[in-house]
Amino acid sequence: MKRVFFFGNGQAEGAGLGKERLGGKGAGLAEMTALGIPVPPGFTIETSVCADYTKSGSVDGLKPEVNAALERLEQAAGRRFGDPGNPLLVSVRSGARSSMPGMMDTILNLGLTGKTIRGLAAVSGDRFAFDCRRRFLQMYGDIVLEVPKHEFEKVLGEKRRERGASSDAELTVEDLAETVRRYEEIIRKKTGDPFPDDPQAQLWGAIGAVFRSWDNERAKTYRKLHRIPGDWGTAVNVQAMVFGNRGETSATGVAFTRDPSTGEKKFYGEFLPNAQGEDVVAGIRTPRPLNSDGSGRSLEETMPQAYRELLRVQDLLEKRFHDMQDLEFTIEEAKLYLLQTRNGKRTGFAAVRIATDMVEEGLIDETEALMRVEPEQLVQLLAPVFDNKEKSAAVGGGKLLGKGLPAGPGAACGQIAFDAASAVRMAAGGNPVVLVREETSPEDIAGMHASAGILTTRGGMTSHAAVVARGMGKTCVVGAGEITVDPEKGELRAKNQTAREGDWISIDGTTGEVLLGRIATRPSEVLQVALEKNLPPEKSPVFQAFDRILGWADKRRRLGVRANADTPTDAQVAVIFGAEGIGLCRTEHMFFEEKRILAVREMILAENAEGRRAALSRILPMQREDFVGIFREMGRRPVTIRLLDPPLHEFLPNEESALSRTASELKVPVEKLRDRVRQLHEANPMLGHRGCRLGITHPEIYETQVRAIFEAAAEVARSGDQPRPEVMIPLVGTSAEFEKLKVLVDETEKKVEKETGQRIAYTVGTMIEIPRAALVAGRIAQNCDFFSFGTNDLTQMTFGYSRDDAASFLPAYIESGILPEDPFASLDQSGVGELVAIATERGRKANPKLKIGVCGEHGGDPSSIEFFHKTGLDYVSCSPFRVPVARLAAARAALSEGKEAVSSTA
Ligand code: ADP
Ligand code: MG
Ligand code: MG
Repeated sequence: MKRVFFFGNGQAEGAGLGKERLGGKGAGLAEMTALGIPVPPGFTIETSVCADYTKSGSVDGLKPEVNAALERLEQAAGRRFGDPGNPLLVSVRSGARSSMPGMMDTILNLGLTGKTIRGLAAVSGDRFAFDCRRRFLQMYGDIVLEVPKHEFEKVLGEKRRERGASSDAELTVEDLAETVRRYEEIIRKKTGDPFPDDPQAQLWGAIGAVFRSWDNERAKTYRKLHRIPGDWGTAVNVQAMVFGNRGETSATGVAFTRDPSTGEKKFYGEFLPNAQGEDVVAGIRTPRPLNSDGSGRSLEETMPQAYRELLRVQDLLEKRFHDMQDLEFTIEEAKLYLLQTRNGKRTGFAAVRIATDMVEEGLIDETEALMRVEPEQLVQLLAPVFDNKEKSAAVGGGKLLGKGLPAGPGAACGQIAFDAASAVRMAAGGNPVVLVREETSPEDIAGMHASAGILTTRGGMTSHAAVVARGMGKTCVVGAGEITVDPEKGELRAKNQTAREGDWISIDGTTGEVLLGRIATRPSEVLQVALEKNLPPEKSPVFQAFDRILGWADKRRRLGVRANADTPTDAQVAVIFGAEGIGLCRTEHMFFEEKRILAVREMILAENAEGRRAALSRILPMQREDFVGIFREMGRRPVTIRLLDPPLHEFLPNEESALSRTASELKVPVEKLRDRVRQLHEANPMLGHRGCRLGITHPEIYETQVRAIFEAAAEVARSGDQPRPEVMIPLVGTSAEFEKLKVLVDETEKKVEKETGQRIAYTVGTMIEIPRAALVAGRIAQNCDFFSFGTNDLTQMTFGYSRDDAASFLPAYIESGILPEDPFASLDQSGVGELVAIATERGRKANPKLKIGVCGEHGGDPSSIEFFHKTGLDYVSCSPFRVPVARLAAARAALSEGKEAVSSTA
């Protein structure tokens, strides 16, 4: 089977084969070539070869195909590989199915040897030839020969300092020649051999190294964070070099067809004259803008012809791919070449804006728009921003350290860490961290992930830090040039101020401002419109886009979305975010308020049911008020109220000092209180006397709560509303428990109905959170109106992992691959999910009218939501702020139904 695909001169063998086989880069190069866009010729070795190489360690079988493709490449380029007179140089580029910016390796200027360098110099000049050789030695040395990068950087840095040069472009021929000699020496010393001088040997060395780079540590970390399967492999692209370092009419750059931060439809990008690819991304020199900014330095002003051509190409590419493109280009002596195109990484803001704009422009339809926004990205639109007043005050107080480029919007405030390892360590301590570096590199990926925000003092909007932060949805400011970081001393300096590791810093990723200290935050623009209502929707394009996407989502989803809300305020937020009801209203927190806890403690200390009732009668009116507030907020929407769940000892004090204070408040001897605490002590409280077990042994507690619910409902109904209470019994494991408590609920309701004269429509259901309940769901369902899966407890009990103690081993389990991810965050579909499926099937069979939902943490997790959709549940319930995420995830689950298999874990 064919495994190597040629592209060049308008023809591309791989056009239409797609990213799976050619990798994103290879597919993009093939498509661009086929569109007639100027792309240097080359060929792609498909991704499947990577796995073969990993297994066998050899690519010998590939040689005939590669050599044939190389011959075609030579013809297309009009130069020969290894020709001493006019040598063809190539790049050897990695490129996986899904883009992993900078995680794998690419080598430029390959084919430069002791012989060919003379040819290159004769055609293009000495300075250029040495610059290419210097770059080649450094990349090949690092990637193929594994000579530490900093060895080379040290030499170059010294040279620059010696010459007082601010960039490599200012170094002379002699400087570069000398650098090359020293590089060769380093390589000879480190490897014991001279640098390989045979172009074929170089080529095969590079191909092997690119395949190996698939499994380097940073690529593995990146794959884990982004859930990219390890068996995809990378393709290898071998491509004729074009040179952006051939003087002032040459350049290299990066562009986006729309603004990747805000999503605005505005062509945008950066370039560096007389430079080669990596330079822009590495942030070594500060790049210049593509669009005219009046400074006379932009591409539009300095190379108008190439700029116009770029505009034409970017438009063509967006229309071809129907998505925002991220382009890499090189200009060689005023002629433009495209080197890469891919769907650009974008912030959540940009994702929503671009998707809705493209629907408007007729580029995509609503369904496609929904698939373009990752549900999790919506969280960014709700994340807080700095309070402007506080910020102005801080600026006035001299706290502004400087301003950089706003690369990842949002507000981040955290303790300074100067390297990735410290960021990881400090973040584990619990406080937010801001990673502050001159520039970031792919090795920093774990530290960036652990940080709340990222600040660099060099580099542009397309630098590594900016690209990766956007992908992660992190707040990020880059190129804050007024700030100096001194990692050796562990400090940063700006404007006569110094800050050390651990000091607090605030960065504004929307404006680029960097401030010393902690600045208070306020709600995001979307919340200002939706919640605070102090910004009219027509003034906020972000809000409009957010609202439209969710409107489209609602038209397509089958799953209902409710919120977990315990207070009227939560309920209000939930409704604003589109919740169709409350899926879980916990009642226990209502007991903790200062005035109530005393009555609750009295109840616990009471000797008998009588005494308990007396104490409960004081709690009743307060609890009734809580429910009135919630019913009023929710109108006709259903409200699922869970009766008391935690064990009673949670309401009693533990420490000695608190014990005596409480005893005197309750006017009981401290001994008595201590005895009661001792009595209630349980070895295993989560498996102890809690949930419906309390309702069975202390029915007066549940009676009081049910009474409060129905009295409240009656009160609200009297004022014209139609409250819809759904009473939920927690922790049921047998049908008898449920039956007994259902009678209690029904009888209490009847009494209240008689007293108030108000007939309230209500239902009674149970949580399914004990594995046994899932198995006997058929019996429980017979007399039950609804099930709500309490997937937190269900996960805890199915795995036998204590949720409160699992932190001591779960990370190790995930690290070593025993578990693919935290089952408390994303549902274990093959185990816990199987119980959900069984209970759903058995429950529905026994009672076709049974309503089924989920109220655990998983109700807000997109991949779990997809599972709940497929399992046929009626709704999910999650925290109010995740309701938008769940609405979008539910729509996407409905849209992708049948397209993919459910991912599962054994
Ligand atoms: P990455 O996957 O990290 O983006 P690339 O393979 O795109 O790596 O290479 C990085 C940069 O090297 C490119 O942006 C481009 O500027 C430069 N480059 C790669 N191949 C060539 C080539 N054939 N000619 C000129 N520059 C190249
Ligand atoms: Mg690239
Ligand atoms: Mg529970």
